[in-house]
Order: sequence, then C-alpha cells, then structure tokens
Amino acid sequence: MNPNFLQTPIPYLKGVGPNRAEILRTELGIETYRDLLQLFPNRYLDKTQYYKINQLQPSGADVQVVGKIIHIKTVEQKRGKRLVAKFVDETGEMELVWFRGHKWIREQLKLNEPYVVFGRTSRYGSVFSMPHPEMELLSEHQAGLKIAMQPIYPSTEKLSAKGITNRVISKMIQQLFLESKGQFPESLSTNIIGELKLISKSEALFNIHFPKNQDLLAKAKFRLKFEELFFVQLQLISKKIVRKQKIKGLPFDKVGENFNSFFNQHLPFELTDAQKRVVKEIRNDMGSNAQMNRLLQGDVGSGKTIVALMCMLLAIDNGFQTCLMAPTEILATQHFNGLSELLGDMKINISLLTGSTKKSIRNNIHEQLENGELHILVGTHAVLEDKVQFKNLGLAIIDEQHRFGVAQRSKLWHKNEIPPHILVMTATPIPRTLAMSLYGDLDVSVIDELPPGRKPIKTVHRFDSNRLKVFQFIKDEIKKGRQIYIVYPLIKESEALDYKDLMDGYESIARDFPMPEYQISIVHGKMKSSDKDYEMERFAKGETQIMVATTVIEVGVNIPNASVMIIESAERFGLSQLHQLRGRVGRGAEQSFCILMTGSKLSEDAKTRLQTMVRSNDGFEIAEVDLKLRGPGDLMGTQQSGLLNLKIADIVKDNQILQTARYHAIQLLKNDPKLEKPENSVVRMAYSKMMQQSNIWNYIS
Ligand code: ADP
Ligand code: MG
Repeated sequence: MNPNFLQTPIPYLKGVGPNRAEILRTELGIETYRDLLQLFPNRYLDKTQYYKINQLQPSGADVQVVGKIIHIKTVEQKRGKRLVAKFVDETGEMELVWFRGHKWIREQLKLNEPYVVFGRTSRYGSVFSMPHPEMELLSEHQAGLKIAMQPIYPSTEKLSAKGITNRVISKMIQQLFLESKGQFPESLSTNIIGELKLISKSEALFNIHFPKNQDLLAKAKFRLKFEELFFVQLQLISKKIVRKQKIKGLPFDKVGENFNSFFNQHLPFELTDAQKRVVKEIRNDMGSNAQMNRLLQGDVGSGKTIVALMCMLLAIDNGFQTCLMAPTEILATQHFNGLSELLGDMKINISLLTGSTKKSIRNNIHEQLENGELHILVGTHAVLEDKVQFKNLGLAIIDEQHRFGVAQRSKLWHKNEIPPHILVMTATPIPRTLAMSLYGDLDVSVIDELPPGRKPIKTVHRFDSNRLKVFQFIKDEIKKGRQIYIVYPLIKESEALDYKDLMDGYESIARDFPMPEYQISIVHGKMKSSDKDYEMERFAKGETQIMVATTVIEVGVNIPNASVMIIESAERFGLSQLHQLRGRVGRGAEQSFCILMTGSKLSEDAKTRLQTMVRSNDGFEIAEVDLKLRGPGDLMGTQQSGLLNLKIADIVKDNQILQTARYHAIQLLKNDPKLEKPENSVVRMAYSKMMQQSNIWNYIS
C-alpha cells in the first residue's frame, strides 16, 4: 500500500464528492482517509437475525425484515404529511413511514423489489409500522460485506438532513476497506502483540467497523484502546525521561541528625503504612541524581503535612533550605503553627511570610534566607516574589496544588541555580489513572489510608424547610462541647448576592443562637486578614462555637474539635468542593456530621452529587463520579494533555487498559529509550507519524 494512503484527502474516496466532503469536515472533523477510518462506531446492532412480519413483537426493539413494497401513498395529517409504504412478506404486512424527506425517498423507492429494512417498530392497532427505516435492496445487501453487527456511527442532525445516514457512512468505510484491501500498517511491535495476544491492526480496524462476532469485536476494541493509550503514555514517559536525564538534581544522600531525631523523639504518633511508604518514595527520589517532581495525593486528613515536614528535614540535613507554599493566608499560618509545634525544641529556624507580614519582619526574613540561617520558609504567593532569594533552596513544597498554576511551579524552579526538588501535594483526589495521564510526567505518590481511629463522617441531605430541626441538632452538639462550621457559597459571578446571603444567614443564626450563650465567628474574603486571623483564632481556641464562613475555609484548616459541617445551598457546590469542605470535620475522635442544606428544586446532576456525598466518604470514589458528571474537560490539566481527543479509549472506563498501556510504554522505553532496536521500528514509525500529523501532540514543548 502507498505509505501515504491514509493521508489521502477524503474527497478522493469513491462516493464522497466535494459537498459531502465539506459536511464530513465541518460535522465530524473528517478530512483524510485516516480520519474516516478512525470514526469508530458508538454501538452495534445485531444483524444476524431476520424477522418475519408475523413474528414482530410490540416491544419496540430494532429488527430486520426482508420483504417488498407493494404500495406507496402520502397521508395528510394535522401537522404535515407522512409518506406510508405498505411492506409485505409471505407472513403478513406492515408499514414503513417517513415524516420528512418525502420527495427524495419517493424517488428512491422501488416497488415490488425485495428489500431488507431495518429499524424500530411500533404497533398501531393491529398494524406494525417502522418509521424512517434503513433500507437496502436485498441484492445489494447480499453483495455487501457480511455484517453480523451493524455499526452505528456518531451522527449529527445536519448529517442526516443532508442524507449522510449511518448507511452512507458505513458504505464509505466499506469503500475505504475495498481500496486498501483491508491492509493497514501495523503500529505495535511483535513483542507487545505477542505478549498481550493482540489481534493485528488490520484485523482490529476491520472488526471495529464490521465485527464478525462479539469476541472479535471485544478484541478489536481492546487492541485499539490499548494502542491509543499506549502512545499517549509513550509520549508522557519519554518527556519524563528527558527531564530526568537532562536535569541534574540535588543529591540528598544523607539521612542526618534532624530527620533521625525527629523520627525517634518528636513524632507525635505512629506513621500509617501509607505515610511510611510515601516518605520512602520521596527519599529515593531525592537521593537519586535526578530532580524530583512528585505529586503527593492524599485525601483530606490523610496526614500529608507530617510527610512534608520529614522531607524538609531531609533537605536540611543535606545542607539545604526548604519552603512550603500554601494558597491562603489562613492555611499558611496554620502550617506555620503546626510545623513549629511539631518541631518543638529542635534547632530549626522556621518563618512565615505572607502578604501581611510586617516590613521589618519581612526584611529580617529576606536577610536570613540569603545568609542561609533560615531553614524553613512557610508562606503564600509572597514566597514567589523576586525579592525572596534563598541561599540554597533544595526542596520546594506546594500544598493544595490545584490552587496554583504551572507558572508558579516554574517560578519555584528558578529559585535556585540547580532546580530544587519539587513536591506538590493535593487533597483533591484525582482518580489514579487520570493522574497517571495528566501528570504522566510527574511521579505520583498516594496516601490511601487515614490515620487510625477516625470515625467516618455521617453525611445527610436536608431541605431548607427542615432548618429548625437542623438548628436543634446544632444546639445539642454544642451542648456536648462540639463546634460547628456553617459554610455559604461564594461564586465570583454572583458575588454581591452571595455576600448578601452570607450576611443574612449570619444574622438569622445570630438570632437563633443568641449571645452570651453562643459565640459566633465569621470569616470571609472581604475581611482584613488580621480580622480573619483573629476570628479563626477564637474559633480554634474554642472561644466561639459556630464559624460562619465562605469557602475560604475549604482547604486545609484543621480544628479537631469541630465536628459538624453545615453546607448551605449545597446544590451550588461541585463534588470535589463539597468533599473538601466535609474534610474540615472528622479530624478528632468524636463522631462528625456533614449536613447538606438545599432548596427543594434540584437538577438531576445536583441530586447525583448530593447522593454521592451521602453515600461515600471516599475521595477517590467521589472524584470518579465527579469525572463522570463533568467529564475530564473540566478537570485541571486535561485541556493540555491531549486526553480529550481520545478516539476510542475512555480514561475513566478504560482504567485497566490504561495501566497496562503505561506499563508497556515504560518497559519499552526502559529497554530501548530511543526506539532504535529493529524490532521497535514499527512503533517508532507510528509514533513519529503521530507526532507529525496530529494536533493533539503539539502541546509538547
Ligand atoms: P492533610 O493530608 O489533609 O493535610 P494533615 O496533615 O493536616 O492532613 O493531618 C490531619 C490530622 O491527622 C492532623 O491533626 C495530624 O496531626 C493527624 N495525623 C496525621 N498523621 C497521623 C497518624 N499517622 N496518626 C495519627 N494522626 C495523624
Ligand atoms: Mg493539608
């Protein structure tokens, strides 16, 4: 076959003129033979069965019938006309009906010729009718490729309006197979094909379009999904290898005094197995010659902070400074306090730098950073400012990474001559396989275990009409000594209104929970940060029992005595945000509760979100549902990753295949990093072709 066969522009295909080509291009993005070949069916209909008219059932399933048209008429009805053909076989008669396209259809139909009609039937009185059937002359049907399962291709209204029906598309693809004799270049090596018992590329393409049977269809799907994911992984992993080889890392080969004394004397609890494993993974990374770029995922409350601290101590033991950056002032402050407490009397210098740090203190910090006296800098974006210069930054940690952009990560890179090791931590669980793809160029560690003794949070959904009962519940909990969060949505587009809701809510709560019996804190984004701190502090110390807030408290805040989280207008929050908010409670030994308050009108998606929250405490499961509801498009990073352009694989459903693909991509590059070996030339050719022609790869720098 001509090696450029698949690049042939689509109008060259027999049966596709310029008009059809234009519609195919605008509606389906099909410009070349390859594009058409990769228009994979959405589903298949079983065409091995032929029905007799007297066998038809009123169930409305798709059926295939052989017979003749003996009569055609136009029937006037209230709204427009319908075209009705009387269709008979030796067992009875039925009607074929069209509501549109009469003229064209009438010209096509031949009387008294055997046809195969295919479609969904319904029964009116005693007569079955099949609206808008697919039809084919029996002679053509028998001459065509034998199709056991009929492919149903993606379609649009415009396509069907212009007569490009499923059958037409199917014909085009048949034509493509005729012209190519069904032979397409292989793109996977004999090794991989053998190991996974894959069918060949040509066989897979044939069976995805014209499956001979269920088994071959399944094999074809597997092969094509595997291949697609394999090449995505190949690309991500080679990117990572390039980074690891080109960029030398700071060697942290010592495990020194600080790490050991912390581990032996200051550790306030036993690490979970997951924490131990992750610390080990990070140590291995930082001890190697390569620069670390690692994503640490762990559900809220899984204990990422202490892992971060241990890594920082490792850096300090090797003579380096470290910094920890958090997205909000509240969180940075809390980290600073938490870390200072954990460090106790250890001789480690730690400072906090935020937008509101006083000038004199700030200057002092700058000085100590430059002369190397300061070991740990905790802060917000302020850390990124150019004025902040380290003597030797060895490790930079970013908490709640989804709040920061790539640009900020790269700024940290440049804070040292040799880029520091970078650890990004997130509690927004990204389904494992998605993470693998999105951050295929990062290494991923997961803390998949909560510290012992945590009771699962009880989550319920309550309508606003039940508010009084909810308030009574709050009072009971406060009596037991617990503290309560009440969170209001705050969304940019409706900010003014949302603030009003918040203030109204606050007032009504203040009425129902009067002073001096109850003390209420309020924290929102419009407050001065010193006021915020003051209120947070009061709540943290237990001086107030209720904290009314916007989502500023979403990330990281850790107040173990707070055991009830009430989320107002919960239907307006996304799933991951709800889960984050819920994670603010359940941090102590007491039973915690999350109450999702909503109005009575809920969309289907909102219902699913609420039900998911009520059912599950598992961040990864929630992330999966979120992914299904919103699609990967909304998830951070997917836009740039090319994952949206997958033709056949589904990163959510084809999770298992993705792992297999990733494994094989890694093995391949391990054995043959430049794909130079003769047995891998097939892969190399396919890969470079993809890199050249496909727009999905070109985000790679
Ligand atoms: P997150 O992963 O959400 O940042 P944190 O690091 O804030 O979680 O930890 C949540 C709470 O769990 C903290 O109070 C912390 O002290 C505690 N914690 C962390 N690890 C353990 C452990 N192994 N055993 C008991 N408590 C732990
Ligand atoms: Mg945290």
